[in-house]
Parts: sequence; structure tokens; C-alpha cells
Amino acid sequence: MKKNVIVTGGAGFIGANIVSALMDKDYNIHIFDNLSTGNKNNLELEKITLHKIDLKDDYRKWPKIEASSFYHFAANADVRGGENNHDIDLNENLLVTKNCCDYAVENRIKNFVFASSATVYGEPNVFPTNEDCIFNQTSFYGASKLSCEAFIQAYSNYGYFKSTIFRFVSWIGKGYSHGVIYDFVDKLLKDSNSLEILGDGNQVKSYLDVRDGITGVLDISEFHKQQSCVFNLGHDEIMNVNKLADIVCDEMNLEQVEYKYTGGKRGWIGDSPQVHLDTNKAKEYGWSPKIRIEDGMRWRQCSKLAECCV
Ligand code: NAD
Repeated sequence: MKKNVIVTGGAGFIGANIVSALMDKDYNIHIFDNLSTGNKNNLELEKITLHKIDLKDDYRKWPKIEASSFYHFAANADVRGGENNHDIDLNENLLVTKNCCDYAVENRIKNFVFASSATVYGEPNVFPTNEDCIFNQTSFYGASKLSCEAFIQAYSNYGYFKSTIFRFVSWIGKGYSHGVIYDFVDKLLKDSNSLEILGDGNQVKSYLDVRDGITGVLDISEFHKQQSCVFNLGHDEIMNVNKLADIVCDEMNLEQVEYKYTGGKRGWIGDSPQVHLDTNKAKEYGWSPKIRIEDGMRWRQCSKLAECCV
């Protein structure tokens, strides 16, 4: 008999890609999503069961499903949002995650996988940054993700479930729906002569292609044997924002675009000017990123890149 798995946020960018990979592994897939940023069009609805629920609501009223794994990807994924709304990360990330843990306990789900973020490191002193690096929170989003991690670890250590926590750099690729590259394409579609770049353009970060990310999440969460484990998932390569802009302009066949900088080292309050994670721990499980950042960007799977580059 096919096993059930639950994917929260399964209608979103990363969640829908996880769902698609899980379909190939022949599971019954149940998606818990309120479609706030997710989209039904990301899903093959005839092959999955979509439960439209808000995960802030009482978990006792969610459908009771005997599942082998719980992939928790729903969140407020907008790192910048917390600046103007001090409650959003607490409610959409921490309270939702606590609800998901309680649901997993009540339904005896033994495997819990969580999408955390490189933002938990804030602005670290060590690059590439490893999992044991000292934390200095610079955003409510990062603080909420770190709090989620702490709750999940505690539930794990009480013995309720095995947990795997992934700290991601920014993902790119099929279904890409937000982030710096998306933002550039969006702006250039409106004005192809100039491009506003947040900060000074020298922020240096790494980006993970969705195909590499999905392999990492599914393989590592399946094979590690510890009760609770945290893994960075990122890329050995880094790229600065100016270079990203150059590649986007090139893909859109735009020449002599004037870059206009908002100035300062950071794109916004809470933005980390440098993101480069040490992924040696994940590599011990045989995983490593295979797709170069530039190749991932030029793959034209970002919907807007695809739209404007045909
Ligand atoms: P996304 O916004 O595309 O997807 C989030 C999904 O969660 C959406 O389908 C949305 O409708 C759903 N959702 C949000 N709040 C909900 C609620 N209260 N109840 C039910 N459903 C809800 O974001 P994404 O980029 O796919 O990110 C997925 C996960 O990965 C998030 O946890 C995010 O914080 C994390 N993450 C993403 C990146 C990245 O580069 N995209 C980087 C680091 C971490």
C-alpha cells in the first residue's frame, strides 16, 4: 500500500517542486496550504490531495492523516516583510510550526522535515559559515526560523519524531516566484532602460538550483539516522548582485541598462550582505550541488525569464 506524506506549503515554489519529486517516489501526497502565496497551477491536482487550510488554525481540526513523513515548507517566506509587520514571522512561522509539531505528535508521524534558512546566521563572522557558527540575529524572519528550529529539536528530543532541519540559501529554478532575480526581471519588463538595485550591488551570496535542493532535502532526510539534525544546503560558488543583474540583462537581450543603486551595504534592514554556507556536513551524505549558479539562472525556468526570453 502506498504511504501517505504531508507537504505544508506544497503549492509554493519549493513545496511544489518537493511534491513533484515525491510523486516520482510513488507516495499519496497531501498538501496543507492556504494558497496565500501558493498557486494551484503549480500542482497536478488529479495526482495529489490539496487541503486548503490555514495552519494558524487549531491543528485538531486539520484532516487526520496517517503519514510517514511531514515536510513543513509553509511560511511567510518574505524576509523583508517583518520590518513593517512585527507579528507576521511570529504568527506565520513560529506559531504555525508549533501547530505542525503538535499535529505530528497527535497523528504519530515519525519523520519531520523543516525548511529553515541561512538568515538564522544573521551577519556571521565566518565564511563559509558552518552549522555551529555563532548566531547574531538581524531579522525577525531569521529569528522566527531559529525559534522554529529550537521547538522542532525539543519535540525530537522528547522522542516524538526524527527531525531534519535544512538551512537554505536562496533557491532558483522552475517555478521561481520571488527573490532578487525575479525582482530584476519584473523591473526590467516595466522599464528596460534602467534597473534599480537595492544596496550597492556588491552583496555576495550563493544560490541553489531547485534540482540540487530537492535531491538534498529528500536524500539527506531519508538517510541520516540521528534524532535531530541540522544541515546547511547551499552552493560552493558565490555571486555578487551586479553579476546577477548582468546575466538577467543578457538573458533578456538588453544592452546598456543603467544601474541605479539605492546605496549602502545592505539591500534592506535585515539583509545579510554576504551569504556563503559551508555544506561539508551535507556532503558527508554524498550530496553536493551540481548546477552552477549561472547555468541555473540561464536555464530560463523562472516563469518571467521564460516569458520574456522566448
Ligand atoms: P512560497 O511563498 O512560494 O511558499 C510558501 C507556501 O506556504 C505557499 O504555498 C503559501 O500559500 C503557504 N502558506 C503560507 N502561510 C500559510 C499558512 N498560514 N497556512 C497554510 N499555508 C501557508 O515560499 P518558498 O520560496 O517556496 O519557501 C518555502 C519554504 O522554504 C519557506 O519555509 C521558506 O521560509 C523557506 N526558504 C525559502 C528560500 C527560498 O529561496 N525560496 C530560502 C530559505 C528558506
